[in-house]
Amino acid sequence: MTETFLIKYAEIAIKGKNRYLFEDALVRQIQHALAKIEGQFQVNKEQGRIYVHCQTDYDFDELIEALQKVFGIVGISPVTVLEDTGFEDLARAVVAYMQEKYPAYQGTFKVHTRRAKKTYPMESMEVSSELGGRILEAFPLAKVDVHQPALLLHVEIREKLYLYSETIPGPGGMPVGTNGKAMLLLSGGIDSPVAGYMIAKRGVTIDAVYFHAPPYTSERAKQKVVDLAKEVAAYSGPIRLHVVNFTDIQLYIYDQCPHEELTILMRRYMMRIAEHFAKERRCLGLITGESIGQVASQTMHSLAATNEVCTLPVYRPLIGFDKQEIVNVAHKIHTYDTSVLPYEDCCTIFVAKHPVTKPNLKKIRNSEKKLEEKIDEMVAEAIRTTEVIVVE
Ligand code: ATP
Ligand code: MG
Repeated sequence: MTETFLIKYAEIAIKGKNRYLFEDALVRQIQHALAKIEGQFQVNKEQGRIYVHCQTDYDFDELIEALQKVFGIVGISPVTVLEDTGFEDLARAVVAYMQEKYPAYQGTFKVHTRRAKKTYPMESMEVSSELGGRILEAFPLAKVDVHQPALLLHVEIREKLYLYSETIPGPGGMPVGTNGKAMLLLSGGIDSPVAGYMIAKRGVTIDAVYFHAPPYTSERAKQKVVDLAKEVAAYSGPIRLHVVNFTDIQLYIYDQCPHEELTILMRRYMMRIAEHFAKERRCLGLITGESIGQVASQTMHSLAATNEVCTLPVYRPLIGFDKQEIVNVAHKIHTYDTSVLPYEDCCTIFVAKHPVTKPNLKKIRNSEKKLEEKIDEMVAEAIRTTEVIVVE
């Protein structure tokens, strides 16, 4: 059983002081992910490398699955760790490693040595070619190919010696916690959980807000959003989900304003309330699952009308995606099956037959004037009565 895993991460964007912030965040996120699975693990940062040491029994697939949810990880390599007791022992261990992992190997291979310990008596090239020779002796049908080997055996010489030949892909991205925080407008649909996942992948911590309209939307509709938040939290870490009771505001808009403008007006109030919580939580932006032209409220005109009320940047990572592309990601992150459960949504309940697709901003502002008498108090009340659920 492998006891140690080498965690590979992209090093390009993390020069200088940012590097240790990136690495520390990555270590924290790995620890967080592994705390949820069976077994005891130690996550160490050693000489510009991150290792996971397994201290008890564990389930290999479960461990890999957990690590594949940690943004910032590019690859996961099971490594064999050896004490440095001289080259002859290393050569024997390399042959034994090959025999165990690739019995009777007949393909092409290459040994790649990295010598971080400069006091080691042999140079990297020499170690590689010597070990290559020993492998050929033990596996006479194997062949060296230095350009496109089917098997690349890595040997790292540090205080200890590390052998590995396999890299399981990680999710990429940047560790959550390295890029501030944003407030996700999370509905029960397909798009917004994907949008949250994509922004979290860039290292952003996520909080969320859901607009609930009881009794028009049920407890089950709310539970569905909690379940979606849980799926996103598997990648992003804990999410503080704000559940806003939006019923009175929706009914008031419905009573006072032209129905074809309903969705846009509702959206504008959602954005205002989301922004309130965003500022309270020190978020640097809002996130939505909008994509140009997907529905009437997502035409360029409609997006401009919604956007007008926001002072924080609004991040719309799906803006150029087709529905199928969004669905593909939803499947990948396991939100799809929950998203398509047929519970009502506060937007569909009050939706007009012919919503405006080119809202006129002057008209929209005029319609909002009709709400002046009560709307501020209603928004304040919605904020006061918001329920916060920590989802992890
Ligand atoms: P989704 O699949 O995310 O529900 P959608 O294609 O259904 O998106 P809309 O219903 O027009 O599109 O919603 C656009 C965006 O507005 C959503 O992606 C989400 O970010 C936000 N949103 C919509 N309804 C709600 C809600 N009830 N609570 C919180 N955010 C919402
Ligand atoms: Mg929706």
